[in-house]
Amino acid sequence: MATMKGLAMLGFDKIGWIEKEVPEVGPNDALCRPLAISPCTSDVHTVWEHAIGDRHDLILGHEASAEVVEVGSLVKDFKPGDRVIIPAITPDWEAVESQAGFSQHSYGMLNGWKFSNSKDGTFAEYFHVNQADGNLAHLPDEISAADAVMLSDMVPTGFHGANLAEVAYGETVVVIGIGPVGLMAVAGTVLRGAGRVYAVGSRKRCQEVALAYGATDLVNYKDGDIVEQVKEAQHGKPVDKVILAGGGLETFDQAVRMVRPGGIVANINYLGTGEYIQIPRVEWGLGMGHIRIVGGLMPGGRKNMEYLAQVLVNKRLDVGRLLTHRFSRFEDLEEGLLLMKDKPRDLIKPVIELTS
Ligand code: NDP
Ligand code: ZN
Repeated sequence: MATMKGLAMLGFDKIGWIEKEVPEVGPNDALCRPLAISPCTSDVHTVWEHAIGDRHDLILGHEASAEVVEVGSLVKDFKPGDRVIIPAITPDWEAVESQAGFSQHSYGMLNGWKFSNSKDGTFAEYFHVNQADGNLAHLPDEISAADAVMLSDMVPTGFHGANLAEVAYGETVVVIGIGPVGLMAVAGTVLRGAGRVYAVGSRKRCQEVALAYGATDLVNYKDGDIVEQVKEAQHGKPVDKVILAGGGLETFDQAVRMVRPGGIVANINYLGTGEYIQIPRVEWGLGMGHIRIVGGLMPGGRKNMEYLAQVLVNKRLDVGRLLTHRFSRFEDLEEGLLLMKDKPRDLIKPVIELTS
């Protein structure tokens, strides 16, 4: 049996390199080898915040671009040697939840999230992709392997926030949290035609990139209550939409205090700790304010990836701005993941673009 190397969660708070068997490929599946990989804040929630419970020798990672190495006998549109985009979320497309439009939850809550959750992830020399025809997307030549990794999770998650918020022309939107996910929410919000866009974060580098993506106002949560800061800038007028992409459970309370009747609070943040979310009764219109609170896991799948790739191919979005720390060796993954955990102030996103 051939074996491969991978960076794994060994248990709570512990990561390490392990050797495992190369995964077997079923008739509809593919085996891929990464061309570029990126660690994610979600990997940090998994290992160091214990968000999904204990895991032993689970290979981490869900963001990669890749080359197809092997396909199952029933795979129609992909063959060995193809360059592909790997969505972080790889649903079971036949499930009733998928047919109902919520493929993220195929066969149960969040079950579309398989990499580094219910099976080994992309931090390996090889990884398995279920339902290759539905979940892989061909990577256009115009997109580099490093940029393509941002199509796995950062672009689809941030844009999902803008979609959940149903951002419309001219609207005023607050994006709370401007790490890579929030920055993609800013970019998606601007592409959907928002007017004024407030970006909430404290790191200067992220603030600069938020402005480059089209944010009009910066709010630093370390300078005092963000509700007061936004209200002051708005001369008391509520905003149309709030997208949550950082901070803790308190952000729901803050968002409801800022948004207008009939507005939307859209969460794409992964709530790694805490128990209950509190909603302020009066500002929620005594329960009758038509303020919608929604939250969603990014949609995966081939169609979504192919369409998002066109946003890059046609130069509507430069994801290169997110890639602040670049590495070239597989072994550098560990440093990349620890950077994601420690969040130095100049970090947005590390990427490991493999050269051989
Ligand atoms: P980062 O940690 O890089 O960014 C978090 C942002 O939130 C930063 O801008 C930070 O500010 C800001 N922030 C921190 N505390 C507060 C606060 N109290 N009030 C307001 N803002 C605050 O995370 P990522 O961008 O990588 O990821 C964001 C979240 O999205 C994570 O929880 C991640 O797991 C989740 N996620 C969700 C997915 C989905 O499908 N829904 C998929 C992928 C990720 P600063 O650092 O500048 O001080
Ligand atoms: Zn991720």
